[in-house]
Amino acid sequence: MYAQVILPISRYESFTYRVPDGMEPSVQRGTFVAVPFRNRTATGVVVSLHTRSPYSGKVRSLRGIKHELSALPQDLWTTLEWISRYYFTPLGMVLKSAFPLGFAETLSPLREKVVRITEPGRQALADWPGRAPAQRAILELLVTAEDSLPIASLREVTGQATQVCQRLASRGWVEIEEREVAADPFLLVPPPPLKQVSLTEEQRDALEVVTRAARTKAFAPVLLQGVTGSGKTEIYLQAAQEVLADGGSVLVLVPEIALTPQVAQRFRAAFGQRVALWHSHLSRRERAWTWQELLKGSFSVVVGARSALFAPLPRLRLLIVDEEQEGSYKQEDPAPRYHARDAALIRGKHAGAVVLMTSATPSVESYFNALMDRFTHVRLTKRFGGAVYPHVHLVDLKAERQRREEYRLILSQTLEQAIRDRLERREQVILLQNRRGFAPVVGCNDCGHAANCPHCSVLMAYHKTSSRLICHYCGTTTAAPEACPQCGSPHIYLHGVGTEQVEEYLRERLPTARIRRMDTDTTRRRGAHHHILQEFSEGKVDILLGTQMIAKGLDFANVTLVGVVNGDTALFLPDFRAGERTFQLVYQVCGRAGRRPDKPGEAIIQTNYPEDIAVKAAARLDAHRFYNQILAERQTLRYPPFSRLVRLLLQGTHQDRGWARSRELRRRLTPLQKGMKLLGPASAPYERLKDHWRVHLLLKSSRETDPSGQGLHQLLNQRIPRGWTERSHQGVRLKVDVDPVSLL
Ligand SMILES: [Zn+2]
Ligand SMILES: [Zn+2]
Repeated sequence: MYAQVILPISRYESFTYRVPDGMEPSVQRGTFVAVPFRNRTATGVVVSLHTRSPYSGKVRSLRGIKHELSALPQDLWTTLEWISRYYFTPLGMVLKSAFPLGFAETLSPLREKVVRITEPGRQALADWPGRAPAQRAILELLVTAEDSLPIASLREVTGQATQVCQRLASRGWVEIEEREVAADPFLLVPPPPLKQVSLTEEQRDALEVVTRAARTKAFAPVLLQGVTGSGKTEIYLQAAQEVLADGGSVLVLVPEIALTPQVAQRFRAAFGQRVALWHSHLSRRERAWTWQELLKGSFSVVVGARSALFAPLPRLRLLIVDEEQEGSYKQEDPAPRYHARDAALIRGKHAGAVVLMTSATPSVESYFNALMDRFTHVRLTKRFGGAVYPHVHLVDLKAERQRREEYRLILSQTLEQAIRDRLERREQVILLQNRRGFAPVVGCNDCGHAANCPHCSVLMAYHKTSSRLICHYCGTTTAAPEACPQCGSPHIYLHGVGTEQVEEYLRERLPTARIRRMDTDTTRRRGAHHHILQEFSEGKVDILLGTQMIAKGLDFANVTLVGVVNGDTALFLPDFRAGERTFQLVYQVCGRAGRRPDKPGEAIIQTNYPEDIAVKAAARLDAHRFYNQILAERQTLRYPPFSRLVRLLLQGTHQDRGWARSRELRRRLTPLQKGMKLLGPASAPYERLKDHWRVHLLLKSSRETDPSGQGLHQLLNQRIPRGWTERSHQGVRLKVDVDPVSLL
């Protein structure tokens, strides 16, 4: 028998090995094996078995089986294969994306030395002879500490902490031991105390749906649509508790763990050491170690972002996808371009688990699936703890600008007055402006030249704090110009408003207000994000101003006003999801106001397009109306969920080669099958990014004629040469994006 084996060194090829007779019974698809590779032994995964060698050259034999790794749950393995097929990506690349680098090394957790004072040590300190000040200082610190302290942390006391501690230990005054360093980003933040809460009737009903489904151990997709503040986390925790008590395990996906630490913290508080966290701040080693521990069954809950979907948790019974509408669940680059929510449904199906997707503003796709009874639809319509929904006002900025003849209007009279009222009452304000920098456009008044990124077809934004122009796509920066680089004119203008400018304006108008800005620029340092929120929750800040970062998860009792400086920043992006995103963002941020029953909230949304359906529906908090309208629109245009979409994006440094390839691609794909439509080739909305020209085609396939998407996949598999994808072929790379989230 022969095995095709994928090695972590290659994303594309698999290699053939002979299976020695004695090993045959144990080698299956998905078995981890040790193989000779070049002049060493490497670890690989068997992807298929053959009776004849598919390779004509000399074939070597497997060296052994890695039993400790081969416990990969079958449902995970099936999901990986589905991702490979559905997202048109070689299995090797999928595995590379799913398994942490170094997964096959034998790892031990990081350890550190800690020191603790002994009883004789306390005695010695009490009648200290008066010499050796470093020893004394360390003992003094230890006597006040409740627990052991890492020796590394004593270096502030003395540079020679290790030697001093050893001296103390030799006298029996301290004990030194080694312990594991937890890979935990929340060491800074102690988990909140576990609250025993009694659920509302709505919550109890929702919980009942989930737990009843979990008991059957059969696949059950549930969409939990709950208004902001309706207490979804309570339901997660209680459902998880029941699943764990029954011997199952739980996977919780969150959009980004650093931005929504609350969910992870609540799980930590409730289930302690059984919870593993999976996030982008883990080092390579920490990742690999956590992965191996998961295989051993050391954890029964995993909380993490997108790639936590691949956690090798056995006996998976509950998969939670928190804020299922979030775009960060979709991987853009590199392939596989999978959507973690959709892949979670596949994993849940094969594991026989409940997949609980939750949102205040579900994606149009999930809403539609619930409407068609493919998902059980559960709603939470009331806010938790008796809080009421805020009053929302819409302000027509365009009209006010004309009336007041103030063309650089940032805050309307309504919003400014509302902020002043809050400052007087010592209540807090959240302001959203979903654009960073000072101004998104810098141009010349005389010749019309606008500052473009030299590498992208994107305008550069002016950042006043650093006095530079920055491309928000590739990060290229240049000094802010004093004169037009084209005609030399000193008449430079700025157009549009970013968070820096709103901040400056607020400081001018409200000089006594304490303001913090939270955007990518102010949160680069590790812990900065947490620090700003901490200050805000302690009441040291009156106004928290920020980009979409502040739209989710924040829960502050004293916030009674939310202002949206410009509700339509994303409305006119050339993407069919622009309206949906605008609706979700505005609706979510409104929910940040009035989280307590005794302090009703208010939200004020400023817009230039008060008649737009997305803005209007969000302002009325009318999700039902919005979804009806948007579904009608999508049906007319045959966009998802009424069709499947595949984006074929060609990228390369030569513009004409990309176009030539795109025309050839079109020729290869036509004639199409019934129910399909091919749009393009056309320049992508961002025609050039990082010096690469971008041309795309869109393939639409009706769900009616091809409900499973099989026809579409067949077409792609038969007509697109494998050599064109992922690797550059004659200077052009083809990216196949199935169910794309962005068309920019
Ligand atoms: Zn000029
Ligand atoms: Zn750029």
